[in-house]
Amino acid sequence: MAEKVIIIGSGPAGWTAAIYAARANLQPLVYEGAVNDKNATQGTLPLGQLNLTTEVENYPGTPTGDTRSYLASALKGDRIPYWVSANKPQPSHGINGPELMELMRQQAVNFDTRIVTDDIVKVDFKTHPFRLTSLEGQTVEALSIIVATGARANYLGLPSEDRFKNNGVSACAVCDGALPRFRNKPLVVIGGGDSAVEEATYLSKFASQVYLVVRRDVLRASKIMQGRALANPKITMKWHRTLDEVLGDDKTGVTGARLKSTVDDAREQLDVGGVFLAIGHTPNTDFLDGQLQLDPKGYVIWTKGQRTNTSVEGVFAAGDVADSYYRQAVTAAGTGCQSALDAERWLAEKGYH
Ligand code: NDP
Repeated sequence: MAEKVIIIGSGPAGWTAAIYAARANLQPLVYEGAVNDKNATQGTLPLGQLNLTTEVENYPGTPTGDTRSYLASALKGDRIPYWVSANKPQPSHGINGPELMELMRQQAVNFDTRIVTDDIVKVDFKTHPFRLTSLEGQTVEALSIIVATGARANYLGLPSEDRFKNNGVSACAVCDGALPRFRNKPLVVIGGGDSAVEEATYLSKFASQVYLVVRRDVLRASKIMQGRALANPKITMKWHRTLDEVLGDDKTGVTGARLKSTVDDAREQLDVGGVFLAIGHTPNTDFLDGQLQLDPKGYVIWTKGQRTNTSVEGVFAAGDVADSYYRQAVTAAGTGCQSALDAERWLAEKGYH
């Protein structure tokens, strides 16, 4: 029998969609992704990009500090009696990415979400019920689908980048830039688009200096953002250069970056405490094999304005897979919620639910 809704993906969008779908009695089935070397290498393991980060300081409801004492003092002040989690957050941080994802997953499980730890590698949206095939060869049918497979940050593919991921190398300044390890230190940002310029500008608030490494002698970023970065005394442009190697040791993490020229053989070494990659993202949409309308960068297009509908009726998309712009955990969770509501209403409209 066909499932009412299958959710593909297990980041904040996928789990939020599952929580809402489960509470709407849709008995969601989540394909959370396979655990294998390919997914580990390209950053597409279950639980998404947040599972690859450390502290999460900007997800509402997870303040940095001793959450138990915050709640205890709220209780003392006759505020609403909160239930204090038995899963004690450590004093010194609110929540980290993997913890947040594990709790979102558990929240979905608490409402009887079923989970398969496998990738969907093939879809058939030309028939209804839709047909999906997993990496392990399982075929499942569904009346509606929520695609929440996210996007992966692009890296240059250097072994040293890999070695220092979460230890001074990051692909998200907004997520990681304010961490103590990067404060008052020189930092490097690689890239010349809006993300790179925005990240360099953002990091300049915490760093002692930011080197913006651009492979050409022009920025791709919008003029207004360029102007802001070029006028910022804490940002030093490194034109015609790219990253050759991240330097450091396992204890301290990143201590430097070697750059190479893109026009000759020149090399130079910078003493820096962090390296931020901002060379674009790749949405995880290959498995759709052209069956949903995508934008030129491969992101799923929402076809109904503020709704999560896609070009195929009954197929919805949520999170970074359909958002090249905001790319935040909280926005992904928000569209995950929308997609479950959209799916529920569509199923009801069609008389399936
Ligand atoms: P972009 O694709 O726009 O830019 C990627 C940048 O990385 C380019 O400068 C590119 O260089 C460089 N790059 C790519 N590959 C390499 C490589 N192998 N080595 C060195 N450099 C490399 O991606 P963004 O993430 O910056 O932006 C994505 C979208 O999001 C854009 O549409 C952007 O406008 C939007 N955005 C908007 C923001 C805002 O308005 N506030 C903030 C952030 C993003 P080259 O130019 O030579 O190709």
